[in-house]
Amino acid sequence: MIVAKFGGTSVADAPAIGRLIGIVRSRSADRPLVVVSALAGVTDALLDLARLVHAGDGAALDAAVGALVDRHRATAGELPGAALALAAIGEDAAALRRDLGTALGRMLRPAELDALAGRGELWSSRLIAAALEGAGLGATWVDIRPIMVTDDRYGRATPYPQALAERARGCLRPLVDAGLLPVTQGFIGATIDGSPTTLGRGGSDFSAALLGAALEVTRVEIWTDVNGLMTADPRIVPSARTLRYASYEEAAELATFGAKVLHPATAQPLVRAGIPIVVLNSLRPGDPGTTIEPSAELERMGDSPVRSISWKRGITVVNVRAPRMLGAYGFLRAMFEVFERHEVVVDVLASGEVSVSLTVEDRTRLDPVVRDLAELGEVWVEDRRAIIAVVGIGIRSTPGLAHRLFRAVQPANVEVISQGASAINMTFVVREEDGPDVVRRLHQEFFGSC
Ligand code: ADP
Ligand code: ASP
Ligand code: MG
Repeated sequence: MIVAKFGGTSVADAPAIGRLIGIVRSRSADRPLVVVSALAGVTDALLDLARLVHAGDGAALDAAVGALVDRHRATAGELPGAALALAAIGEDAAALRRDLGTALGRMLRPAELDALAGRGELWSSRLIAAALEGAGLGATWVDIRPIMVTDDRYGRATPYPQALAERARGCLRPLVDAGLLPVTQGFIGATIDGSPTTLGRGGSDFSAALLGAALEVTRVEIWTDVNGLMTADPRIVPSARTLRYASYEEAAELATFGAKVLHPATAQPLVRAGIPIVVLNSLRPGDPGTTIEPSAELERMGDSPVRSISWKRGITVVNVRAPRMLGAYGFLRAMFEVFERHEVVVDVLASGEVSVSLTVEDRTRLDPVVRDLAELGEVWVEDRRAIIAVVGIGIRSTPGLAHRLFRAVQPANVEVISQGASAINMTFVVREEDGPDVVRRLHQEFFGSC
């Protein structure tokens, strides 16, 4: 059995879903479980409805919900059998419109936002299941919410692996054993009481991995719009090359520092069982893609110790300077307690004799953190920064690498430097507007231009 997950651009319209059908057919002997994202752009469009609700604009809301239903209808119209899904999608959209109508004029609560955001996956999976069934593939639609049991941290819920594994084995495996093709949703789950949740943006990859681990599949295929994990984001570096193999650790580091192609948690459920992830291009299904596995014979990109360069924008740097930190103990603990208390995640940390700099991605909850940190020392915050991460197993053992790296980065100003404990990455902070150029210069330094 395998899991085949298709991202938003791989289900964007009827031609994309046509390609999906061909890919799934070619995998029939592997007994796939199909996991899908919302049609490209639909999650953003749904979240945008919250703005209209807040503004109390009922007419605009009608039009926007109508446009989303129309998009699904037009897509279904071009795929034999898919129109059978439209009744369920239409009913659900009407229910959504009614729910949102009761909230006009106010902000949606986190639980309401998750119920809203998850609609895209519910609709796309209905449509794709009907299209696969129409193509004679014996598809059956499965609502993943009662299986993907999560906590109630709306917007970034964490699944309970044990409950999930029991339910996935009890509900999904019998369908596959009966020769059916289950089609289900990425990104969404529900609390134990059935309240809908989401796993965070880009979370469908994580869903696929969780289900793959629960069902002990032979591999998890992630179908997307690029050829695999690449030496840099091809949108920034058009000459970026595809990595044929990567380790779980490399994939996790790259994803954590901005390589959107995989959700950062994707590898995590698969490590223990050593299940490979294969990242593939749905526009070029014959290409080998990137295989991510523990024992991969890690090929080098030419002679470069670096395997890939990623970057993440929208970063805020928090600096704390406290002369009393010199020679004192307990200071870092006190500082991290502040972040823990306010549930703010820290990405990169660099510490000197009397000062500490760290980066956070979620700016929204920073104010109380800064207030509490001010009790420990002088605090200043710098916005609009970007993290650049240079990742590769070779980094550990290459003398002079830092020199090459910082020479290539000039004239951009480097602000916070950190070499992760895993020793397979080197991260630093630059101004956001310098990010793309810095990535290009590093790529040129370590991989050349072609
Ligand atoms: P999907 O909709 O299939 O989940 P995403 O948009 O989430 O796809 O991720 C694919 C995108 O990730 C690519 O189009 C590419 O621009 C971007 N990306 C960023 N960094 C990398 C990288 N190192 N390798 C490959 N793709 C990357
Ligand atoms: N549709 C969701 C998002 O846009 C989840 C995903 O595509 O992975 O974030
Ligand atoms: Mg994605």
